[in-house]
Amino acid sequence: MTTRPDPIMMAALRAIRSLDPKATNQEIASRAGIEKTSAKSMVRLGIRSGWLKSEGGKFNRRLTLTNAGHSKLFRAENFTKPTADEKGRAKLRACLMCRAEFESTWAGERVCKPCKFTADWKAGPNEAFAVVGGRSI
Ligand SMILES: [Zn+2]
Repeated sequence: MTTRPDPIMMAALRAIRSLDPKATNQEIASRAGIEKTSAKSMVRLGIRSGWLKSEGGKFNRRLTLTNAGHSKLFRAENFTKPTADEKGRAKLRACLMCRAEFESTWAGERVCKPCKFTADWKAGPNEAFAVVGGRSI
């Protein structure tokens, strides 16, 4: 199952990747656009999760992304929420009657509004728009 990456964690990792390894939590927070306390807990969580490597002591800390951190960020950056189109929802579809493209609101809407006002449409299904073997003819 794909879950949406945590945006605060991702912002922190991205900031750390772009900054000098000696960057402070305050600098990470400013770059990531998050609170300093969030940056601090994201750093702690990142180290615990193996995404970050911290070397040096409290006053000469060097913080870098591990391979796991880089790949976590890479996957997050390539994570895209399925759009309406992919789900077969709203998109431009060709009308089954006049063949003109129209804004269909869902996969089952295949006839444009003007066509729905025509006598042909109101007359109901006929051979011209019959569906054979799942394919419209
Ligand atoms: Zn039409």
